[in-house]
Amino acid sequence: MIKKIFLSTLMILFLTLALMGFLTLNNSKSLYYDFVEDGLDRALSAIELSISGTEDFYNAESNTMIQNTVLNNEYRITLIDNKGNVVYDTDRDAETMENHLDRPEVKSAFADEPKRTIRHSDSIKADMMYLARKIYLDEAETAVVRLSMRLSLTEDIYYQSLKNMLFYILFSFFVAAFFSRYILAYLLKPVKEISLFAKSIAGGNYTERMTWFKRDEIGDLTDSLNDMADELQDTFNLLSDRNSELEVILANIVDGIIAIDNNMSVKIINKSAKEILEITENEKVIGKNIFEIIRTIKIFDELKRFVDDVNSGTLVSFESEISGKIVRLTISKISENDFVQGYILVLQNVTQIRKLENIRKDFVANVSHELKTPITSIKGFIETLKEGVEDERTREQFYNIIHMETERLIDLVEDILTLSFLDNENNIKGLNKEWIDPKTNLEEAVEISKNLAKEKGIEIKVETSENLPRVLFNKDYFRQMCLNLIGNAIKFSNENSQIIIRMYKDPKSVKLEVLDSGIGIAEEDLERIFERFYRVEKGRARKEGGTGLGLAIVKHIVQSQGGEIKVSSKVNEGTVFTVSFNYVKNDLSGNDLY
Ligand code: ADP
Repeated sequence: MIKKIFLSTLMILFLTLALMGFLTLNNSKSLYYDFVEDGLDRALSAIELSISGTEDFYNAESNTMIQNTVLNNEYRITLIDNKGNVVYDTDRDAETMENHLDRPEVKSAFADEPKRTIRHSDSIKADMMYLARKIYLDEAETAVVRLSMRLSLTEDIYYQSLKNMLFYILFSFFVAAFFSRYILAYLLKPVKEISLFAKSIAGGNYTERMTWFKRDEIGDLTDSLNDMADELQDTFNLLSDRNSELEVILANIVDGIIAIDNNMSVKIINKSAKEILEITENEKVIGKNIFEIIRTIKIFDELKRFVDDVNSGTLVSFESEISGKIVRLTISKISENDFVQGYILVLQNVTQIRKLENIRKDFVANVSHELKTPITSIKGFIETLKEGVEDERTREQFYNIIHMETERLIDLVEDILTLSFLDNENNIKGLNKEWIDPKTNLEEAVEISKNLAKEKGIEIKVETSENLPRVLFNKDYFRQMCLNLIGNAIKFSNENSQIIIRMYKDPKSVKLEVLDSGIGIAEEDLERIFERFYRVEKGRARKEGGTGLGLAIVKHIVQSQGGEIKVSSKVNEGTVFTVSFNYVKNDLSGNDLY
């Protein structure tokens, strides 16, 4: 910038100086011509006086004025009669000279309007100034005296002046150039500062301000720029506040939100969307094509159809599987003035909801099936009995079966009711809990189970630590949990075997272990035994009178009390169920409760 202004200044300076030089030179030239003309005019007056009314016009050599003038002034004198014939000439032989009537200076002299003429003389090879005057030889006869002078001096003066002029021009040019550089730098300093300030603002540094104390144009500009920076800072703060608010809102929305533009590039993506799509927190997805981050054909097709179809409405909703999850996607248009700017994708992870729906559906189907079996059996035996059974023993046997199936039905309905009660969180919250002594309650359950164990010759060994702390538990459910676990141990143990029940305390919890050396559970079934109606060997389990709901109930009871249940087993070696109760949590004083 400085360079450009500097060069322009130099150019203007040079042109101005050159023009000035040219004008001055021309002026001096015209002054010099005036000076020569003045000399010629005065000499003409003197000659006119000396020859008017004399015979000297035709006898010039005898006129002293003419001769002196020639001698002193290097003038050429030409006397011309009124017909234009040269009568006398100081430089040439008058007789050889042509008629001079057509010479401009002669013409103007005869016309009484004497005018100087400058012409190049080929014979002398120089510019000449001519001035002529009409004189009266007598009353009737006129003639012209013409004086001319070689203007060789003009050229000398001209070239000398030109040389001087050039020298002055160059000198003043360099002096001006030298100073103008510093003056320019000084004058342009605020412009440079303003430019740096503007750059800094453009770079996002909205807190920067300029100071300029002089009340001049730069001062006004500085004030305006500072005002502009204030407004920019306010706008920026407002926008960044809004942006943070939006970010906080987006981050806290449970549903995944993705905004894309018309080119399918991701503009906004929130945390939940990243979680659903299994994108790590730090991975940069902004600007990527949506199909780079969701690679599901169904979504591609649906989104494409929605985008391409002008009659597709404002939103579309469908379910699709993404990374093993069932996701409900709602796509809507971002429109402004009927012009679609982009699309919003809302992703809801409905895996759990669909899973629960399936569990419920399966449960209903299983319950119907489980109920149907004993009811059909009872119906069959009653119909047979109605038709009449002669044999007393057979009749007795049928009654026993009907009784047994009825008991099964009652057990099943009771288990279903217990489960549905435990399914309801409000029921669990309202459950009557008390600080129970786990050892006494366990021993009561063992006592009840002993009859069943006796039938199979199974011995139940109880090993409990002394001084077990009390646990906060619903008494009935604690007993049911123990009965279910011990009952299973008896059911799935071989005859004359042993069941060991341990209860002890570790730093964090009270633990209950039920060990048997029965048939065991295969690895692949271990995960599923807590599911409703899941039985490893359906036939054996039914024969043993199980409903397939026992462990599901135990798990619900343990979880409702904030505990944990684990199982480990080996086929044909035995099974261990371990339940942990977090007793410390239950005591507000932080001490064990005995
Ligand atoms: P069930 O009423 O049939 O006993 P549960 O829910 O109590 O139903 O148990 C589910 C299944 O887990 C049983 O059918 C059985 O196959 C298996 N099981 C439970 N406890 C044991 C155990 N101690 N030993 C071997 N298998 C067991």
